[in-house]
Parts: sequence; C-alpha cells; structure tokens
Amino acid sequence: MAEVLVYVDHVDGAVRKPTLELLTLARRIGEPVAVALGNGAADTAAALAEHGAVKVLTDDASEYGEYLVVPKVDALQAAVAAVSPAAVLVPSSAEGKEIAARLALRLGSGIITDAVDLEAGDEGPVATQSVFAASFTTKSRVAKGTPVITVKPNSAAVEAAPAAGAVEALSVTFSAQATGTKITGRTPRESTGRPELTEAAIVVSGGRGVNGAENFAVIEALADSLGAAVGASRAAVDAGWYPHTNQVGQTGKSVSPQLYIANGISGAIQHRAGMQTSKTIVAVNKDAEAPIFDLVDYGVVGDLFDVVPQLTEEIKTRKG
Ligand code: FAD
Repeated sequence: MAEVLVYVDHVDGAVRKPTLELLTLARRIGEPVAVALGNGAADTAAALAEHGAVKVLTDDASEYGEYLVVPKVDALQAAVAAVSPAAVLVPSSAEGKEIAARLALRLGSGIITDAVDLEAGDEGPVATQSVFAASFTTKSRVAKGTPVITVKPNSAAVEAAPAAGAVEALSVTFSAQATGTKITGRTPRESTGRPELTEAAIVVSGGRGVNGAENFAVIEALADSLGAAVGASRAAVDAGWYPHTNQVGQTGKSVSPQLYIANGISGAIQHRAGMQTSKTIVAVNKDAEAPIFDLVDYGVVGDLFDVVPQLTEEIKTRKG
C-alpha cells in the first residue's frame, strides 16, 4: 500500500488537532507516515500512532525553531525522497500553506490548498475545495508530480486507529536558504482559554446586533458553555467591539466548524465566505428576512439578548 506523508503541526510534542484529522484523511489514500520536526518531535509519536501513523519520521534539530519555514521544507523534501509517497498532506495554517507551496515548487509538483475533503481516486487523491465564497465546491487532483495538498481544520473527524507508529530518525541536510530568515523573538498571545478560532469545533459569533463591546459578554458566555471559540463580523470588529483576530469572513478568518452560531449577523456575502462550509449553522436574528436565514440549518427569530442567555442557561443545566 502506498505511503502518505503527513506534516505534523505540534507544540513541543503536543500534536494539534488538525494533524490528527489529516491522519483520518491519509488513511483513505494509503498508510500514513508522519513527519514531526523540532523540539519534542519524538514525543508526538504516541498520539500519532494512536491515530493511524505507521511510522513517525523525526528530526529535532534546533534550526526548525530558530528559522522560518525553509528548514521544514528541506525536511519534507528529504522525507519525500526517502518515502516516495502517494501524497503529502499539510494542515492549512498560514505556515502550513507556505511550507506546502515551497515544497511543491521544489518537487515540481502540483498543489491544492484549503481542501475540505479528500478521497482516493483512480489517478491519485481527489480533493474537494469550496470556492467563490463557498457558492461552489470543486473536485480536483494533482496531475503532475507528488500531490501536495493542504487541508482546512475540521474537514474530517479525529478517529482512533492504532498503528505501529515506529519512530525513525529523518536525515536532513539543510539548504543554503534554510538559515536565511531568523526568528528574533516570540511573544505568546494572551490566552483566553478558548480554542483557536480556525480549529474550533464550535464557533459562536456576534455581529452588529450585539450593539457594544460590553455586550460581547453574552456571546462569550454562550461560547464558554459550549467550549467554543468566539467570532465576530466585520461590522462588530470595525466598531471596535472585538479584536480583528476574531473576524470571520472574506477579510477575516475562514472557519469550518461542526457548529457555527451567528448572533445578530445579517449574513452578508463577505461574512458567508468565511463560515459557509460549517457543518451545522444556527442563527439568532430579530429580522425574519435577514439573509443569514437562507443558509441556516436552524434559525431563531428573536432578540439575541432574550435568546442567547436562555440558550446558555439551558446548555449549562443539561451539562450539569
Ligand atoms: P449588519 O449587516 O448590520 O447586520 C446586523 C444584524 O443584526 C441584522 O440582521 C439585524 O437584524 C440583527 N440584529 C440587530 N439587533 C439584534 C438583536 N438585538 N437580536 C438579534 N438580531 C439583531 N464582513 C464580515 O463579517 N467579514 C469579513 O471578512 C468582511 N469582509 C469584507 C470585505 C469587503 C471588501 C467588504 C466590502 C465588506 C466586507 N464585510 C465583511 C462587510 C459585510 O459586507 C457586512 O457589512 C458585514 O458582514 C455586516 O456585519 P453584520 O452582519 O454584523 O451587520
């Protein structure tokens, strides 16, 4: 069976959820071989094996943490040469997409970015993308070289599939460009205790209807009752009620959670562009004619200040 390389996104050995989702997709195409780099690389092996990695190629050289993406591209190129995989899968983060693009260029391969699904095809893996503000989905395959595919978070379930996960050292010779851009400092973001917006399984968003920064406490309370991330429309961000890092949409972040709850958001095309691939969409809006209701699975016509606190209390009660 063909092997499929999966680039591991991890923090000091703790594997991030999008990588585990990639393992689910990789198993549809072949046998997943994970590539874990940098500090704590070998510590990822147990989690990766639990989710289907037959092998884990590791290199904990300090260069991965000291320089921007090129050392990681060098390592993936070495892994491709060692394994001759059927495909290389990379999480669709900003860094992941840069790594994937550079790797595809090196390999002379085609690349597909931001896939939301992946299946085996007769002539190689077939990726589904959501395009034109999520108005269409396309299916495509890489027709040249080793397919390099980035996949958006929440595109697949995390599945337990115990495999050997044998750790092997990856031998990497860094290119002349590897040390070209040095990281000079890192400032950890203040933690809200909530999941990262693009990776969250549930996103609760607020728009102009929230009507003030202080009122976002209502949105946050619902998010916290569900263990969700908080999103915001551009109108709410432009008004200064919530940080731009939380903006969902064309000029914000693109999210694809299992559940998206839009509160006081009209559903403009630019907002939909960032959330329309969510699996289940719920909206609370006091205007029954709001365009958001055209795309929801469940809609509540009502004042969010009546509906959302009741919903939060009900969820808390049911959770005990
Ligand atoms: P509105 O459209 O004003 O809607 C507010 C809604 O709240 C209304 O439907 C109203 O009925 C409802 N409401 C009011 N009070 C309550 C209440 N008490 N209870 C329940 N409902 C209530 N927008 C984005 O979101 N993300 C983007 O990335 C983005 N990028 C853009 C890029 C470009 C180039 C352009 C031109 C626009 C972009 N926009 C983006 C802006 C977008 O066009 C809309 O203006 C914006 O999404 C509207 O935000 P909103 O739905 O919160 O506000």
